[in-house]
Amino acid sequence: MNNTLDIDALVARIKAVLPESSEPIALHEPRFQGNEWAYVKNCIDTGWVSTVGTYVNRFEQSLSEYTGAKHAIAVVNGTAALHICLLLVGVERGDEVVVPSLTFVATANAISYCGAVPLFADSDKATLGMSAAKVDEFLVNHAEVRGGVCFNRQTGRRIAALMPMHTFGQPVDIDAFLALADKWKLPLIEDAAESLGTSYRGVHTGNFGIVSALSFNGNKIITTGGGGAILTNNEALAKRAKHLTTTARVPHKWSFVHDEVGYNYRLPNINAALGCAQMELLPEFLERKRQLAARYEKALKDVAGLRFFVERDEVHSNYWLNTILLDQQSMDHRDHVLEKLNISGLMARPAWVLMHKLPIFAEAPRMDLSVAEALEKSIINIPSSVILS
Ligand SMILES: *Cc1c(COP(=O)(O)O)cnc(C)c1O
Repeated sequence: MNNTLDIDALVARIKAVLPESSEPIALHEPRFQGNEWAYVKNCIDTGWVSTVGTYVNRFEQSLSEYTGAKHAIAVVNGTAALHICLLLVGVERGDEVVVPSLTFVATANAISYCGAVPLFADSDKATLGMSAAKVDEFLVNHAEVRGGVCFNRQTGRRIAALMPMHTFGQPVDIDAFLALADKWKLPLIEDAAESLGTSYRGVHTGNFGIVSALSFNGNKIITTGGGGAILTNNEALAKRAKHLTTTARVPHKWSFVHDEVGYNYRLPNINAALGCAQMELLPEFLERKRQLAARYEKALKDVAGLRFFVERDEVHSNYWLNTILLDQQSMDHRDHVLEKLNISGLMARPAWVLMHKLPIFAEAPRMDLSVAEALEKSIINIPSSVILS
């Protein structure tokens, strides 16, 4: 059998799955086909466009119902949601937070906003997310729990949280992370920005962490233009999330009193209106995205030199971004494959440059990152819009 990467076959097979198009096919574009116009117009007609309004509450309620999380707090974007999640679990200046190096910059930036430092973790080939086994191995060798608090013996800093990310909508091994969090006395935060619609053992992602973050940026499975949400099953944390994201104002009819430094992170009503309409469409979007993934899986099955990433048995994935993985011996050709796909009108992209390679995180502590380094050379995302199915 010949395992040499067959780029022409790859292009042809992807084209056969997708509709005919004279325009380049986007990686992931938003789809508005329901009540978006009506709800946004209603905001403008009534003047309720800003941070107070019925759509914000309705959007939060629909998120809570859909995900099964008791509370959802809508905020201006996913990065702000992550920032507040970290504050809610008590991350402070000088702490370290364990995050994957293979993630979007927002995950690591949110840690910096708290004055804390990312501790970069390696990836798991089976999930594309953070490796619980690698984190445990690092902690066994370099950390200790004193008085119920985890410390990094190398840096002397407190390790204050674990923040895995569900890559391209494929969840991490959540059971392993729950065990890890328990063993090392670390609060678990899920960066579920990419995984709205994804469940793990029948439970929606975002319910396993003490708090979790969603994103509704323009390229996510549903969009509010810009937006995000914090999910939690803890009522006290939900109240505090709402307080912190609404300038920490003490509720009163006319008096403006703020009892701490809060944030202006509340999602505007006009964005929430878009979100309400998109939530009505989410079940259909999910179905279509799964159909597209199934067609890719079939079409790419026997293309030499690569494989299509498929959800694991315990997972029901939203397939936010469809992913191909180049074989070990084909990884050096990644940029050539990207070139060929893009020239052929198929917008494809590599994974993010690993966080530990960015100059802004040059000083950040890290563990062996060999799997993340290999995945960075191997991953290619291919067109994944709802409209393509
Ligand atoms: C999209 C995304 C976010 C949040 O992004 P915003 O643009 O701020 O909504 C956070 N983490 C990951 C992994 C993401 O993909």
